[in-house]
Parts: sequence; C-alpha cells; structure tokens
Amino acid sequence: MMKTQQLLLNPTPVQYLGKLPGGQDIFMKRDDLLGFSFGGNKCRIAVAFLEDMEQKGGDLMVSYGSPGSNLNRTVAALCKSRDIPCLLIVSADEGADEQTFNRQIAAGTGARQVLCGKADVASTVERVMEEARKRGYKPYYLYGDQYGMGNEAAAREAYRRAYREIRGWQQETGHHLTHIFHASGTGMTQGGLVVGKREAGGREEIIGISVARDEARGAAAVRRYAGDQGEDDGDIRFVADYRCGGYGLYDGDIERTIEEMMNSHGIALDPTYTGKAYAGMVKWLERYGMGTEQVMFIHTGGLPLYFDYLNRRRDP
Ligand SMILES: *Cc1c(COP(=O)(O)O)cnc(C)c1O
Repeated sequence: MMKTQQLLLNPTPVQYLGKLPGGQDIFMKRDDLLGFSFGGNKCRIAVAFLEDMEQKGGDLMVSYGSPGSNLNRTVAALCKSRDIPCLLIVSADEGADEQTFNRQIAAGTGARQVLCGKADVASTVERVMEEARKRGYKPYYLYGDQYGMGNEAAAREAYRRAYREIRGWQQETGHHLTHIFHASGTGMTQGGLVVGKREAGGREEIIGISVARDEARGAAAVRRYAGDQGEDDGDIRFVADYRCGGYGLYDGDIERTIEEMMNSHGIALDPTYTGKAYAGMVKWLERYGMGTEQVMFIHTGGLPLYFDYLNRRRDP
C-alpha cells in the first residue's frame, strides 16, 4: 500500500453513544472520519480500486455514479491528489441539472464528467473506454466490464480489511458485538464485511439496511460481492423493510433521527444513507433485538449529503 493511502485509512475511532430505546449499548464506527475528502466508506473503496488499477497497469480511472455520488466524489479527489487522470460517468435521467455538493466537489478536481441516461450506462462505458484507448491510455473501469461485473474482488477488499479493524477493537476492549449494522446499497461494503467475518470466524450478525433495493436483488448483489456461487450461505441479512419508498426518499422518523444525532452527539447523518439506516436499525432492534446487548453502527459517511439536506430544508 502506498504511504498516503495508509494514512487515509488509519483505523477509525469507535464511539460509544449510549443506550438505544431497546436498551442496547450502541457503538458507532466513525468511518465518516476517514482522512480524505469528507471520509466515508467510499474512501476505503476508492483506495482499494486504485490499488487494483495500479496492479493491473491502468493509467486512467473511470468511475460511475449518480449526480450526488459519494463514490465519484471520492475517486475523483483521490486521483487528483495522486495526479492520475480520472473520468466520471454520471447517470442523469432525472436530476441532470440538480446541483449537489458531491458533484461540485468532483467537478472541482477537473475530472471530466460524461452524462448519460440510466439505460445507456453500458454503451457509454464502452464508448468512453474505447476513446481512451485510442488516445493511448490503459483505462480502468472500477466496476469491471461495461455491465458493471467482474471487479468484485477488488471492491470487497475494502471492508474485508475494515472487518479486521472491528474484530481487533473487540479484542482490545473486551466488547462483544452481537450485531453490526450499516447502510447497504450496491453490496460492496456488506460483501466485504461478510467475507472478513467468515475468514475470522466472527459471530456477529452483519445487517445491511437497504437504502433502495428490494431484498432479493440486494441480497444477490451482496452475495456477488462476497464471491458466493450457488448455495446461499445463510449469513447475508439484507433488510429492505425501512426503505421509505426508495432511494433518496425519507420520512419524519428519519428527519428526527438526523436532528437528534446532530444535537446529542454533533454527528451528521444524511437522509439517503446513514440517517435512513440508523432509523431502520432502531426499528429493527425494537422488533427483533430482545436480549441483544452490544451493537455497532458503521457510519459510512456521505457528509456532503447532509448539507444538501440542510439546503433543501431551507427552501420554502
Ligand atoms: C455508497 C454508500 C453506502 C452504501 O455502500 P455500498 O457499498 O454501496 O453498499 C452507504 N453509505 C454511504 C454514505 C454511501 O455513500
């Protein structure tokens, strides 16, 4: 690992927040404090992709995400800091002219942004890669092929390592977590955690709270990132009961969760990922958490989305 990348990924603090309504001790792993571009899980994931690109001899990073993508922002910032050219494909059917802080930060790095419709992602990836090759680059598309498949092993590395941190923390402090919760989207984070846990023989339940996908689709993606083939190992819990109708949608419970977390602890959550997942975790534990004592919530970052949220709330 490069020295700068090591610095970015120093083990993140684990903070005790008190007791949840169900009586459980709640510990928050502050991956929002990863030392780069506002932190977040995409920091670890961007570093894992960059390492993979370097191993494969690539010299132009190609990323993909929505206009508000934390991944695009982090990848662009990381590449910029290392003087590596970077190109962002941005899916923008709705919200093409929506200004988000993530988008502004990404634009500030000078990374070229190519807009495309959601139905045209594969053809756009193919075209962008072909053009880059013609210009003499060895482009690297971080998800793998134009359909976004094939690079699961690189992605899972990020949270496979993070799981080891969590395990080390438990060993050092003598805490025994029964559950680890986090916001789950593409499955990169959860797939990595699950693999790390299997390797270490960990016993915590890893529970991904879906931010968008239904259970079947979400769990299948986690299995793919965990490298599973065929049989279901039964250790993937992708909970889709708290999606509030879909990606980016939220309700009063989520708003109250965000407000309380800021006012009680000075920690920013956002309505799309961490606020939704935290509120979902609390509800899940109220229902199924009898006898549970110590749980962890991984704060996966997304800080710029908190400011987008504040901005929107100020609008009449
Ligand atoms: C991307 C993201 C997630 C979801 O992570 P996946 O690896 O895609 O499941 C959770 N929280 C934040 C803030 C994110 O940006």
